[in-house]
Amino acid sequence: MSAQNTLRLILGDQLNADHSWFKTKDPDAIYVIAELHQEQHYVKHHIQKTCAFFKSMENFAKALQKAGHNVLHLTLDDTSEYSNLSDLLIALAKQHNCSEIHYQRPDEYRLKQQLNALTHSAQTDHGIELKRFDTEHFILPAEDIFKYFNKDKHVRMENFYRKMRKRFNILMEDGQPLGGQWNFDADNRNNFKEDDLDAIPEPLVFANDVNDIIERLNRHKIPCMGKPETTLLWPCSRAQSREILQYFCTVCLPNFGRFQDAMTQNSPHAWSLYHSRLSFALNAKMLHPLDVIKAAINQFNHSQDAINLAQIEGFIRQILGWREYVRGMYWINMPEISKLNALQANKPLPKWFWDGKTNMNCLSKAVSQSLDYAYAHHIQRLMITGNFALLAGLNPDEVDEWYLGIYIDAIEWVELPNTRGMALSADGGLIATKPYAASGNYINKMSDHCKHCHYSVKTKTGSKACPFNSLYWHFLERNKEVFQKNPRMAFPYKTWQRMGSSQQTAILQHAKQVLQNLDSL
Ligand SMILES: Cc1cc2nc3c(=O)[nH]c(=O)nc-3n(C[C@H](O)[C@H](O)[C@H](O)COP(=O)(O)OP(=O)(O)OC[C@H]3O[C@@H](n4cnc5c(N)ncnc54)[C@H](O)[C@@H]3O)c2cc1C
Ligand code: SF4
Repeated sequence: MSAQNTLRLILGDQLNADHSWFKTKDPDAIYVIAELHQEQHYVKHHIQKTCAFFKSMENFAKALQKAGHNVLHLTLDDTSEYSNLSDLLIALAKQHNCSEIHYQRPDEYRLKQQLNALTHSAQTDHGIELKRFDTEHFILPAEDIFKYFNKDKHVRMENFYRKMRKRFNILMEDGQPLGGQWNFDADNRNNFKEDDLDAIPEPLVFANDVNDIIERLNRHKIPCMGKPETTLLWPCSRAQSREILQYFCTVCLPNFGRFQDAMTQNSPHAWSLYHSRLSFALNAKMLHPLDVIKAAINQFNHSQDAINLAQIEGFIRQILGWREYVRGMYWINMPEISKLNALQANKPLPKWFWDGKTNMNCLSKAVSQSLDYAYAHHIQRLMITGNFALLAGLNPDEVDEWYLGIYIDAIEWVELPNTRGMALSADGGLIATKPYAASGNYINKMSDHCKHCHYSVKTKTGSKACPFNSLYWHFLERNKEVFQKNPRMAFPYKTWQRMGSSQQTAILQHAKQVLQNLDSL
């Protein structure tokens, strides 16, 4: 090899086969895809999440090799002698006579800082130049983030979403939103009735053999959580990602919006429902968000008798709206947002977050499912576990760590704004203008969990009272300085005042007992 080779780094969440790097075969370019020890220790991951990343990286390396590129696929065995990514890159660059290291813009602040630091030290200490490239993944170009977001300023998701619809001409007609309306949320809040349950579709799952990866994780004593599966059901290649996208469009999309917020335990497919389960494939960049949008709109155009506008709009809002929005909010507000604790919440995570063993049926179901599948859908994350963490005042650092570890799709740029911002209101209102706080009543409306619970959703005090009920009022009372004047919170505060002092005292006393006994609920 010549002395002018280039090392090109592909991180585990940069498996974008359409990237312009791969348009031509460059004999001087060496692609490195490496299982890194440092990535296993910044947080304790769900074992299925690590297996899904490692398997997808392996498949991507094989596909690049097959297409004629030079690829170094390194396992934990190969990288164990290097203390971190930077050391590995310098060692490989020297080994392979590379004068340049190319990398794609990382989506996590932590990695961005690390590669920025390496850019300086590699040049001064080793004469190696680092060059950064775009990931060519997101719809909003990275350099436009500052045009839509301002540091420390609330940006309404709805306003951002409308701008994105217009700019990229998605679901638009003559400059107006298709159907004359931007938002169909009001049509998309159904719960499951008895008759709906049998129709819930069986999820498309895969059987990726990850025996060798699990063996490797054990051998290297990598700390993991969750249920190991030797045949992994998550999509671990571009072909599988496309298959699950197609399955979603034909089978789930017709009811996606309608049952987006619903939960049940009375279906063998309760864990997946009508959700796409595309987040891992998207976040690992095996799918491009615009391809997902095009596939869904194509399906809508071809089967308008089956898919109405509310369903497709509900889905596009998630990909074009929420996903791009949280990424913008993350980058504009990092690193400060990761330290915010606006409500001064300091309680440790109850121990049942790690085994699902609680008498609160909704939480037991959501946590156990997360441990079994490395997956929970949005409303479980927001209104069950997130809502409990908010009401109980759990420490945002611990809650963030739990969400960042447990979910198959958890990468900080998307996990942190959702957890610290949307669920915990720890960001002082940057993301949500009102806290996503709810009593048991909401959970009872949107699920059938309460019917099978040890606790009674109808009562606020007494040993059998649903803990969400007293915690909800305790949350409002203890944070009244922050929320009382918020017009969107006027109704609950009026209801609280109408209760009268003796009822308020009883509820607050009960909530105190609940808060003192979080581990044994
Ligand atoms: C506390 C909390 C933590 C979360 N952590 C993550 C995370 O680590 N990684 C992650 O990808 N999503 C996260 N989300 C957002 C959302 O819950 C998941 O994207 C979704 O549940 C993934 O399942 P799905 O693919 O079946 O989604 P679907 O319900 O089918 O939605 C389709 C797609 O829309 C996108 N999407 C929907 N809502 C959001 C959102 N709020 N933010 C960003 N993208 C969204 C996702 O790409 C998702 O795949 C979190 C939400 C909450 C409330
Ligand atoms: S009664 Fe309360 S704890 Fe039990 S399932 Fe309903 S909301 Fe959850």
